[in-house]
Amino acid sequence: PFDVLVVGGGPAGAAAAVYAARKGIRTGLLAERLGGQVNDTLAIENYPSVLQTEGPKMAAALEAQVRHYEVDVMNGQRAVALRPAAQPDGWIGVEVEGGATLRARSVVLATGARWRNLNVPGEAEYKNRGVAYCPHCDGPLFKGKRVAVIGGGNSGVEAAIDLAGIVAHVTLLEFAEQLKADAVLVSKLKSLPNVTILTQAQTLAILGDGQRVTGLRFRDRASGAEHELALEGVFVQIGLVPNTEWLDGVVARNRFGEIEIDAACHTSVPGVFAAGDCTTAPYKQIVVAAGEGAKAALSAFDFLIRTPAP
Ligand code: FAD
Repeated sequence: PFDVLVVGGGPAGAAAAVYAARKGIRTGLLAERLGGQVNDTLAIENYPSVLQTEGPKMAAALEAQVRHYEVDVMNGQRAVALRPAAQPDGWIGVEVEGGATLRARSVVLATGARWRNLNVPGEAEYKNRGVAYCPHCDGPLFKGKRVAVIGGGNSGVEAAIDLAGIVAHVTLLEFAEQLKADAVLVSKLKSLPNVTILTQAQTLAILGDGQRVTGLRFRDRASGAEHELALEGVFVQIGLVPNTEWLDGVVARNRFGEIEIDAACHTSVPGVFAAGDCTTAPYKQIVVAAGEGAKAALSAFDFLIRTPAP
């Protein structure tokens, strides 16, 4: 059994495990894939003290740091159910795919999120070679170039406004007849000189030359006509889905599926804390996730010193 069991091995889970282990308490870390989304990132240029690094390098560094401490690392394993303790000082159970149940006095949920894909030809092929998901991360890589943003909700319109200040031209494509973003964002977007807004535009394919993105093809749903746009980048902004389906009905989540937490990372379940992209904490970034992971572990420690052992 563990004092703290961390579920998830991205920046949030890794930070939580390091903070917990350094308290000298029995710490476990269960993860499907150590490193999390960081593995899928090419250049990382916005982590304090690190001028530039690559995703797989940072993922390996996260793992090395976790393994430097006494953390029981269970990689390649998936949690499928959480069982809250019967009373506050009881054991919390985390069921792992295959049937085993791990017991812990406290749990930190750090299962992250995944970007919703368009699922059109070219998207997977050109990921990190022109196809991007995070404007804060990859926007500067497209300085002076032409990009498209796909999705006219708040995140798509925010991305287009953000990118318009960096790139030469932004085309925003929305499938529906109208943008779904807040009116204040839409009017800001419409005021920008280097932005074109296309509604009723269905993206059919992302085009490339074998090396990088060169354009995209879309159908004008009003006329049925197909068109091509020449550009260097495509930002897909059709949703970020938290990996929290397995917590349905057990831990309170908002309508997006994010685990509801307070400022100290408490969830609705006593002894269960959460951190990073799987939570309601705003701004899904590595530095934010790592900070939240540290907070969650410290809150778990605070819980442990106030709660009698089972
Ligand atoms: P994640 O990194 O998503 O990690 C989640 C962990 O939980 C993984 O180990 C996963 O395997 C595990 N897991 C999930 N479900 C289960 C389960 N049921 N059981 C067990 N384990 C489970 N941010 C930046 O700050 N800078 C960047 O340059 C940057 N670029 C990015 C580029 C791309 C292509 C992407 C996709 C994201 C980028 N981000 C960037 C965002 C950043 O990667 C995330 O904000 C960050 O990784 C979130 O950390 P996390 O620990 O909360 O979750």
